[in-house]
Amino acid sequence: MKTNALLTETAIRAGRYLDGLDERPVAPSTEAVARLEDLKEEFPDQPANPKEVVELLDQLGSPATVGSAGGRYFGFVTGGSLPAALAANWLAGAWDQNACLQDMSPVAIALENIAAGWLLDALGLPSESAVSFVTGATMANFTALVAARRAVLESVGWDVEAQGLFNAPPVTVIVGAEVHPTVFKDLAFLGLGRERVTVVPVDDQGRFKAEALPSLSGPTIICLQAGNVNTGAFDPVGLVCEQAHPAGAWVHVDGAFGLWAAASPKMKKLTSGLEKADSWATDAHKWLNVPYDCGLAIIKDPHPLRKAVSISAAYLPESERYTPETSRRARGVEVWAALKSLGRQGLADLIERTCGLARRFAAGLADAGFTILNVVVLNQVLVRFGDQATTARIIKAVQDDGVCWCGGTVWQGNPAMRISVSSWATTERDVDQSLAAIIRVAKRELQGDRA
Ligand SMILES: *Cc1c(COP(=O)(O)O)cnc(C)c1O
Repeated sequence: MKTNALLTETAIRAGRYLDGLDERPVAPSTEAVARLEDLKEEFPDQPANPKEVVELLDQLGSPATVGSAGGRYFGFVTGGSLPAALAANWLAGAWDQNACLQDMSPVAIALENIAAGWLLDALGLPSESAVSFVTGATMANFTALVAARRAVLESVGWDVEAQGLFNAPPVTVIVGAEVHPTVFKDLAFLGLGRERVTVVPVDDQGRFKAEALPSLSGPTIICLQAGNVNTGAFDPVGLVCEQAHPAGAWVHVDGAFGLWAAASPKMKKLTSGLEKADSWATDAHKWLNVPYDCGLAIIKDPHPLRKAVSISAAYLPESERYTPETSRRARGVEVWAALKSLGRQGLADLIERTCGLARRFAAGLADAGFTILNVVVLNQVLVRFGDQATTARIIKAVQDDGVCWCGGTVWQGNPAMRISVSSWATTERDVDQSLAAIIRVAKRELQGDRA
């Protein structure tokens, strides 16, 4: 089979898969997952026909996927893929470009540059910022914190990349009590330590208490967040910056999904002061709805990042963009395609529509007598059904029921089901169907308790 025919057939399979998502349970069936066993074999001696390879993938793989590309997946914070972004991903796959250098791929660098400019514009962030395309928010936070570590130590005359951290002046790291757990992973990688942090208390929505910020001196990095992963609440970035900047501290914002609120005139008030920070991290694979994987690190002053990640080798010129990786996928292609296909209005509409659907969930669940635990300011809804065991049982039953998929969490001691509306594909009808299913399943399970 010619490559062209193979790709055409694959496109038909992919289209059939996406069209079928509406009809199938969101979670894969137990049988479909069990059939993955059929993929297990000794490493084959003989080559296989590419057509058969794809057939096998579709036959066994497609049914065992989680239907997160459809409209009724509300687990974690998982976007779908906008049609233009998915199609761009395919074309970029065919291009197989290495986005490391201009010479390796003029188109990858050009699209990243354009997409970066549009992003800074849409999010209202300083236009001189460096934008790094990485795998996700974990690496975006890491990249921004690499720059932060460089900058705060450089300010006391320490070259951390050259000299390392042994005998370095201590760096104070301040986080809110609701910091995302992946930030600790990043701090561990950076030699700053998971436990060597000052934890500032938060309010009932998980917001960093600016008034509890300790007095600051010496090299200091403060990690805030825009969009708490449970409540969607925003830390008071502007207030913290007012205290932090006179002391020379670096303020970083983890805005894995919440940063996108800045792209909506209606939601933008949540993000006021955000632009005062020194660096930001966000995901494009969450709310921007590009295919996995894609995260973005944004650093206001590109200098420390450039210093931290640059390499020097005779055969390898300085990269156009600053990332921890060297060879890498041309992620800017999909970000460009997503932004181009949405435009400013489409992006604002995506954010506003999903937030509206989250409010629809909250209202429907409250009407049915369940308690909403958070103030629904963004796209996240926390609903309580009862104690830990009851909540866990209901979440499992909702997932098994298959109409929709939601995960569990514990919010300030309360076990809860968490609903995140992050996909462009979710419609009012999806929400109403999901609401009906959740309420039916929860009432059935609670009834069972009383019987
Ligand atoms: C999802 C998320 C992360 C981690 O992002 P990845 O893309 O999984 O690396 C970090 N912080 C917050 C607030 C998140 O929601």
